[in-house]
Amino acid sequence: MSTSASNTKYIFVTGGVTSSLGKGIISASLAKLLQSRGYSVTIQKLDPYINVDPGTLNPYEHGECYVTNDGAETDLDLGHYERFLGVPTSQANNVTTGKIYQTVITKERRGDYLGKTVQVIPHITDEIKRRIKLLGSRFKYDVVITEIGGTVGDIESLPYIEAVRQLKWELGSTNAIVIHLTLVPFLSASGELKTKPTQHSVKILLENGIQPDVLVLRTEHELTQDIRKKVALFCNVELDAVVQSIDVSTIYEVPLMMQKEKLDIIVLKKLNLKEGTEPDLSKWVEFLEKLKNPKHCVRIALVGKYVELKDSYKSIIESLQHAGAVNDCKVDLTCIHSEKITEQTIESLLGDKEGIIVAPGFGDRGIEGKILSVKFARERQIPFFGICLGMQCAVIEFARNVIGWSDAHSTEMVRTTEHPVIDLMESQKGVTEKGGTMRLGAYPCVIKKGSRAYKAYGITQISERHRHRFEFNNEYLPFFEKAGMQAVGINPDSNLVEIVEIPSHPWFIGVQFHPEYQSTVLNPHPLFVDFVRTVVNRQKKS
Ligand code: GLN
Repeated sequence: MSTSASNTKYIFVTGGVTSSLGKGIISASLAKLLQSRGYSVTIQKLDPYINVDPGTLNPYEHGECYVTNDGAETDLDLGHYERFLGVPTSQANNVTTGKIYQTVITKERRGDYLGKTVQVIPHITDEIKRRIKLLGSRFKYDVVITEIGGTVGDIESLPYIEAVRQLKWELGSTNAIVIHLTLVPFLSASGELKTKPTQHSVKILLENGIQPDVLVLRTEHELTQDIRKKVALFCNVELDAVVQSIDVSTIYEVPLMMQKEKLDIIVLKKLNLKEGTEPDLSKWVEFLEKLKNPKHCVRIALVGKYVELKDSYKSIIESLQHAGAVNDCKVDLTCIHSEKITEQTIESLLGDKEGIIVAPGFGDRGIEGKILSVKFARERQIPFFGICLGMQCAVIEFARNVIGWSDAHSTEMVRTTEHPVIDLMESQKGVTEKGGTMRLGAYPCVIKKGSRAYKAYGITQISERHRHRFEFNNEYLPFFEKAGMQAVGINPDSNLVEIVEIPSHPWFIGVQFHPEYQSTVLNPHPLFVDFVRTVVNRQKKS
């Protein structure tokens, strides 16, 4: 059901009342429903901060940094988009205020606006509009859903809201609509749901010239018909365009909930698009059934240093959910702070775990706790999965405790170590700027037949996404292979070690890449699936 590029329809999703209402999940759910009806859909996130991308942000500030195939460091919402839609996103799917200003200022210096005063309106708003429309026209999507980060009323969001107002006017009401997501709080003292915050937030949109077309109301309790009517009347929205989004146990239920609320039908009607075939969500429902009715439960530890904020490891946590579901298994995940892991505490922290994952990360804080966790998993024969820095820790641990180089380290942590088993990549040696300069995005890897990784993937040629500066030091490879750690995944162009494993261990794999960025609901990642399967099978046997 492809429409021509110029017929791309635009849906803007704004948020009101508070942040963290789940605009990303609502956008992804709507996209899923439209995709299931035969439309090609993509989702874009506009972030109103001045960083050019979130790559330079601490995970505590912003959660995980998600990496696309084309090497963009992006907002974690793009991870949700990919996990829901199963379609890769790209650079163009995440735009920040920093990117917008960078483009406009570069043009100004080049003389593109010669003679003119460069201003927020029209220059910044034009650049925002260009980025929104570019996505629809370049990739010929039927529908582009653009999520505006932040909350309406924020100073930073104003140029975005103005750009949306202009686009709505330029494209016409059947080509561009606005969905506004707000909160209807429940006051337990009076036992009432309150609509006033929603009314106020719509008022802010109206002050900025935008009449929302659809309202999605986040609530803890069912909304009565009276409440829906009240909101519809005071916010100038059709009654059937007031949609409830009630709290659910898993984000993966939201598409079905939105289907029940007919959000897709309302949107299609407003955009003058055919309803198409009834969405076939049977595979999705099957996943959800398995997720909600597990037959087994495995205790997995995720060792990292950003554990206080669950969003820091979003994609890993979601990948484990996907892998758990296919294995009919609940993954009981405990995030453990690596700084807390010492010789004294390790037994109490990891003693009852059936699988151990060491997370990606940067810098030396908590590094020894990670290395100890690897040792614990290796010696106790507990399935171990090391991701990026986690793989590097596995290599360091093996060098120290199996090969016997007690000072072995990564030069990221100790520059002068005599055994730099992990070292700065050649291509990184002259790099001084921090933003967007790591080895980023998808690279090919060839897997050795007969390896555990091969067993998991079932193929030899894979492509995985990266975000790192350091690498396995190939000079030492013969020592590792002789002592029992094999390099089983290699980049065919650079010879970089991508996967290491210990064949004598029940399941010990370290990967330099980030498999978690490619796991989706309908296509769970083979390494996560094999890891969880191994843990379940061991449990069954014991
Ligand atoms: N700090 C390590 C490097 O830059 C690992 C990065 C990561 O875990 N993403 O190579």
